Amino acid sequence: RNWAESKLTTELLKAVERAGYKKPSPIQMASIPLGLQQRDVIGVAETGSGKTAAFVLPMLNYITRLPPLSEENEAEGPYAVVMAPTRELAQQIEDETVKFAHYLGIKVVSIVGGQSIEDQGFRIRQGCEVVIATPGRLLDCLERRYCVLNQCNYVVLDEADRMIDMGFGPQVVGVLDAMPSSNMKPKNEDEELDEKKIYRTTYMFSATMPPAVERLARNYLRNPAVVTI
Ligand code: AMP
Repeated sequence: RNWAESKLTTELLKAVERAGYKKPSPIQMASIPLGLQQRDVIGVAETGSGKTAAFVLPMLNYITRLPPLSEENEAEGPYAVVMAPTRELAQQIEDETVKFAHYLGIKVVSIVGGQSIEDQGFRIRQGCEVVIATPGRLLDCLERRYCVLNQCNYVVLDEADRMIDMGFGPQVVGVLDAMPSSNMKPKNEDEELDEKKIYRTTYMFSATMPPAVERLARNYLRNPAVVTI
């Protein structure tokens, strides 16, 4: 197995090489091509499997295909959002994202509790393609109109079961509902997708699938591929 088989663009493959990742892990090999096809993904994987890069790389690949952020559109918010249950996990995801994003000129801002929300709002408004957040703080930013998600069509829920366990279900849903719903894929799986259109792509990683997580998947994911490692 090698990176070329992952179907990432040349630009991304170069970033992966510079980051020193010699070979894709099994979860990366299974998950990356799905994201590139705008498929929704449920990933059942533990930390240490390389699951972060498994959603970060298709997300960055998606962003490189969009027009660069400009003065016209940066006020419309980020192109992609990652939600995670804790500040520590958000920090790890940010580190892993910056490893590649750095080479691509993609800006990443993290929005977690315990830091000035005004500063965080300011940094988002200055323009960033990716926001990595804990759900409560991000919803707070949205409710205060410090930031909007008008052009966010790529979303990752990492450790969804833990976010639910910690009581963040309503905040996760609040954030998802702030994204454009017009880009949701049709509920009817038989309906053909328009290859030229951008649909919302949703990745959900969860170690377990309790009913509340199933419900979240049913409401916000469309015909997801399940990747288990
Ligand atoms: P994760 O499971 O996402 O928490 O990743 C565990 C660790 O493995 C992190 O330190 C990553 O930077 C590293 N890692 C992930 N994928 C690869 C890869 N394909 N090659 C080398 N290191 C990797």
